[in-house]
Amino acid sequence: MSEEQTTPKLYEPPEEFASNANVSDPAVYEEAERDYKSFWAERARELHWFREWDEVLQWNPPEAKWFVGGKTNVAYNCLDYQIEQGRGDKVALVWEGDEPSDGTTYTYSELLAEVEKFANVLKSLGAEKGKPVSIYLPMIPELPVAMLACARIGAPHSIVFGAFSASALRDRINDCEATILVTADAAPRGGRKTPLKQNADEALEDAPSIENVVVVRRTGDDVPMQDGRDRYYDELMADAEESCPAEEMDSEDLLFILYSSGSTGKPKGIVHTTGGYLTQVNATTKWTMDLKDEDVYWCTADIGWITGHSYLVYGPLSAGGTSVQFEGTPAYPASDRWWDVIEKHKVTILYTAPTAIRSFMKGGTEDLEKHDLSSLRLLGTVGEPINPRAWEWYHENVGGGRCPIVDTWWQTETGGHMITPLPGITPTKPGSATRPFPGIEAGLFDEEGNEIEGEGSGNLVIKKPWPGMLRTLYKDPERYRETYWEKYGDVYFVGDGARRDEDGYYWITGRIDDVMNVSGHRISTAEVESALVGHPAVAESAVIGRADEDKGQAIVAYVILEGDREGSDELIQELNGQVRKVIGAHARPQEIIFTPDLPKTRSGKIMRRILRGVAEGQQDLGDTSTLADPSVVDALKESRAAN
Ligand code: ATP
Ligand code: MG
Repeated sequence: MSEEQTTPKLYEPPEEFASNANVSDPAVYEEAERDYKSFWAERARELHWFREWDEVLQWNPPEAKWFVGGKTNVAYNCLDYQIEQGRGDKVALVWEGDEPSDGTTYTYSELLAEVEKFANVLKSLGAEKGKPVSIYLPMIPELPVAMLACARIGAPHSIVFGAFSASALRDRINDCEATILVTADAAPRGGRKTPLKQNADEALEDAPSIENVVVVRRTGDDVPMQDGRDRYYDELMADAEESCPAEEMDSEDLLFILYSSGSTGKPKGIVHTTGGYLTQVNATTKWTMDLKDEDVYWCTADIGWITGHSYLVYGPLSAGGTSVQFEGTPAYPASDRWWDVIEKHKVTILYTAPTAIRSFMKGGTEDLEKHDLSSLRLLGTVGEPINPRAWEWYHENVGGGRCPIVDTWWQTETGGHMITPLPGITPTKPGSATRPFPGIEAGLFDEEGNEIEGEGSGNLVIKKPWPGMLRTLYKDPERYRETYWEKYGDVYFVGDGARRDEDGYYWITGRIDDVMNVSGHRISTAEVESALVGHPAVAESAVIGRADEDKGQAIVAYVILEGDREGSDELIQELNGQVRKVIGAHARPQEIIFTPDLPKTRSGKIMRRILRGVAEGQQDLGDTSTLADPSVVDALKESRAAN
């Protein structure tokens, strides 16, 4: 397979970390395995409930109900309950603006005051329990305020990532038929501005359910306001009543709808409910991210993605943490911005994605050396498999060799972490998400529907229901059943491939639809990528299968080189040799294309469809509007022509 298969290095949890960790007794795994319902019930008891549940779980596949009969409120848990525990004056949210000079903090009490007022604003505009509210905001404090205000009154939110286009916003509003849209004049990012209100107006031309629009003044840009429909946030807040009691929500009431990125097709409206979701994000924030009262915790994801929902807002706030929200980009005003943020706020826990780590790797360690990163004690990664070399680089250069890394595998659908180390317990192997979180049971199946025992590779499944699981796809229960519960009966079909090693550790090999079939060999794109990135000249690579008359598919590799390295025939020979050595001759790319950039969605995922299109010389590459940088497409075509 890849570099990791040759005896991976094992990293034991550092002794000092382990002795102070929130969980350090490996017996938690067996306890949870013996009785997963009691395990989760114990976690749920760490939250505030207005009424305790009658039954932990009702499971009629594929329908799960957790903490049946329990009454709680997510915003109450994230705010009031923290204040009751003495955290009123503790900083809940540290906001760092796009400009380094721009920032502010909110204590738990201050955040609650804003949330109550905005909840009243929403109510005055007709929001009510069960009726979705769409939110299209930059990474500003009004975003968590709006989410928590929705949660407080029981109106499900549907957040649309601020960089999405008007048409993406329109489709998402129409799918959930929201009556209120919360947006802003514009979104500053990396010194540039996205015209949110203009996009919203365009979307609303064809989104008739929206009756009211709330506009946050972020940049002060002059934007058209439609009479009777559009109102400014600050004006509404100035007149809002201060007190808004939290609605007693049923454990299974809808908390939010989130449309997944769509990298594999039409966006799915993933539905999360109240009690179970909160239980899982709260428990995993404390256990995986080891969040404690003293920590300053920074999750770099945008709140528009599930990672931001679960691990920037609901997880850390329900655990009484201090959460950093950053509006900007890694490269603005200079390439050391992230390290500057860490030093400035004395961040102790950093949670980010492999794509960011690899792009920093390309820039070398100079930027890091300018900053004091000694406050960091734990690092996390999520979003795609992390190749061992990037893991090692992260560990060595960002974590100073002292911070454990939690490689967390999960999905929008799972709500929270599923396969991940516990940093005080689990020895880690670079590139492996290690073992399932306590109470989670994973497995592997082959294409014929047989379960694979012991070591082996196959399709990843989850064998028991878990509290944070999606409950359905919004207004499409049939698609929910077909997508996740049909292939292997009553186990959850993940859609990712994985390998399980001799220690029971999982190595995610990528999406199942990213498996190539070359002359009958099934080869995962991630394996070839990992092999290529194992070569010191390669910073990043993306591999696809191009339709091929003889072989079914032929492997094409796009390669970004380190620093100022240049592509050459000699290097192509070397890279082929590398793949042959690590995987085998059958996996050697037929074509290697050196390119300065790759087409990525705004959450950093590579759009392979486009790479395939370019490799096959297709003229029409379909919709490229969800790309973070659509100009990449021309650059790719040029790189290919130069080959
Ligand atoms: P869509 O389902 O619409 O294509 P998406 O799958 O990109 O969208 P997410 O739910 O954000 O949206 O991503 C989950 C996927 O990301 C996982 O199924 C897996 O492929 C990948 N992933 C996430 N974390 C990890 C990880 N730690 N290691 C390996 N892969 C990961
Ligand atoms: Mg997915």
